[in-house]
Amino acid sequence: MIPLLQVNDLKKHFPLRGGAVKAVDGISFEVRRGETLSIVGESGCGKSTVGRAVLRLLEPSAGQVVLDGQRIDQLAAAKLRPMRRRMQVVFQDPFSSLNPRMRVRDILAEPIRNFGLASSRADLTARVTRLLDTVRLLADAAGRFPHEFSGGQRQRIGIARALAAEPDLIICDEAVSALDVSVKAQIVNLLQDLQAELGLALLFISHDLAIVEHMTHRVAVMYLGRIVEMATSRRIFATPRHPYTYALLSAVPVPEPGHARTRVVLTGDVPSPINPPSGCRFHTRCPFAFERCRTEEPELRAVQPDQSAACHLNDGPDEDNPLLRTKVLA
Ligand code: SF4
Repeated sequence: MIPLLQVNDLKKHFPLRGGAVKAVDGISFEVRRGETLSIVGESGCGKSTVGRAVLRLLEPSAGQVVLDGQRIDQLAAAKLRPMRRRMQVVFQDPFSSLNPRMRVRDILAEPIRNFGLASSRADLTARVTRLLDTVRLLADAAGRFPHEFSGGQRQRIGIARALAAEPDLIICDEAVSALDVSVKAQIVNLLQDLQAELGLALLFISHDLAIVEHMTHRVAVMYLGRIVEMATSRRIFATPRHPYTYALLSAVPVPEPGHARTRVVLTGDVPSPINPPSGCRFHTRCPFAFERCRTEEPELRAVQPDQSAACHLNDGPDEDNPLLRTKVLA
């Protein structure tokens, strides 16, 4: 079966006088029906730009975006419209993305009307009521304004608005980052329930690996506009094969005693995406960098059937790979 979303060698460069910010610099991935793929990385790695380029809120500079077998990266507005319905987005800040002057019923009715999904006025009202129920809000929420809700409730409204278009894929762009820990968990649980109920695919963009671990099928780790590691969640959390992934993971608290990770602390700032380092882009911050890393860019290649990484350390035998040796059980 073809994947729901295929992204091939996607680039998004922002021209500058005398150069370009290479926010996304040639990345490929796919999202299958009903799965969650998380894209993680520090702020400025390009992950949010990926989401916007896939949605064509930003025009890609190069590459292909294929939804259900159809290229959408060059579709004209009229043809893009029905494809847009199938991909919806939930942003980080529900307050700024919900019109403060509109009642919730109108916020939810807007996409239903825009995409011509309701057969009658009664159907429209029934759909709004059903959406509120789906995101576990009471029916009386329909008559209220966004400022009357808590942050978590507003994010539920944002999710309901995304669902109103009956999408196949929801892109969650740091959708839980601004929420308190307990509310975050509730929204993540809701997204997981909705995925199971509706068969939705999720592209979950986040800097928060702790959240991702419990909700995602696969993870893509981005650094300076490129994917440096991609694997199933189980594999990447147990045996990361890129030092950057390892450093991100070592910053995540590990709750089970006896399963501590050696800490790999990242030093230095993230280099500029205008002029990324030669060779491996991570070499200026990598504690394992060696001569070859400064001149030769490693390719993203399979190291296991369900894991790919872009690091020269994986070229030799596992016994010599310091990353595999640093994975200690305390
Ligand atoms: Fe570090 Fe070299 Fe691997 Fe890059 S290729 S992550 S610099 S060891």
